[in-house]
Amino acid sequence: MISVFGSANMDLVAYVTKAPKRGETVTGRAFATIPGGKGANQATAAARATSTPPPPTPAADARPGTSTPGPDAQPGTSAPGIAAGPGTLTPRAPGVAFIGAVGDDAFGPVMRQALESAGVDVSRLRTVPGPSGIAHIVVDDQGGNSIIVVPGANGTVTGVSEADLAVISRSDALLLQLELPMDAVVAAARAAGVPVILTPAPVQDLPRELLDAVDLIVPNEHEAAAITGLADPEEALEALLELVPEVVITLGERGALYGSRSPGRPGTPSGGRSGVRRGERLRVPAVPVKAVDTTAAGDTFVGALAVARAEGRPIGEALRFATTAAALSVQREGASTSMPTRPEIDAALR
Ligand code: ADP
Repeated sequence: MISVFGSANMDLVAYVTKAPKRGETVTGRAFATIPGGKGANQATAAARATSTPPPPTPAADARPGTSTPGPDAQPGTSAPGIAAGPGTLTPRAPGVAFIGAVGDDAFGPVMRQALESAGVDVSRLRTVPGPSGIAHIVVDDQGGNSIIVVPGANGTVTGVSEADLAVISRSDALLLQLELPMDAVVAAARAAGVPVILTPAPVQDLPRELLDAVDLIVPNEHEAAAITGLADPEEALEALLELVPEVVITLGERGALYGSRSPGRPGTPSGGRSGVRRGERLRVPAVPVKAVDTTAAGDTFVGALAVARAEGRPIGEALRFATTAAALSVQREGASTSMPTRPEIDAALR
């Protein structure tokens, strides 16, 4: 199972010929409300990329579709396998759980329903008083856009509860992004007890205590450059490996770069460049396709990567799986609407 602790926004998208200037009113061509938010998008991508759950077995304490324990469940009391050593990642329960908040406005139930219909467990998605998070997006005919994000309910998520942690502790990985308050993201990363995968977007200063709790960081090349101050992705990769044990930098239509520290020291702060011994380095080309809309390519990539790793696939194979899923998504319009299903990914990989 994959847990995602993150944002849910309703994207309010106005399509215009030319964006209005200050004081100006223009008539738009079209309008759409599309459930989004980086957290919800990654959860949707992961759920779509997850293979159909096998029939429940009596031994499994986390049955497909019921992956959230009751409120009194304790962290660390889930199925055996969590303590399995490196390379023996056994999926303990299929599926994806989303942890976050929506408002008690009209958008909240729509976002909840969208996640549910993608197969995401929303039992830890809270409804809080006040508005849901929204992204107000103006798209002009040149494909340019301007975006206002109002956090709304996402801003009320200030930490993780015991019940949230009970779900996270049963997971193969926890996915985090930076659209929730930083204190909440740090708290989740530190308490997770399972591999933490961070998408550092929207880019901002990363506290040391967050980086120390992250196992894999997945920036795009612009985020990697902003974090490290290095424009060259290969140099940025080396700099990021001083901070986090595993790094993937996505390069859009040029694919992705992967690096890991030397085996045997996962999670150990390096203490500087001299402390980093060279581990694996991979360059995975993108699948050459005609891109129609690259919105949420990165979220699709991360969701699929997490699923492949939870299935125990070696990193090269997991990166190809994620690259294939992302290539399928860029060939269709929209964010969550463009994310491929598992049969589509498997067919494209053949
Ligand atoms: P983000 O959406 O976070 O900015 P990227 O643009 O780097 O992330 O894209 C993430 C991944 O999606 C890339 O590593 C690549 O595999 C895939 N991808 C993005 N754009 C294209 C494209 N034009 N053609 C094929 N694959 C793409």
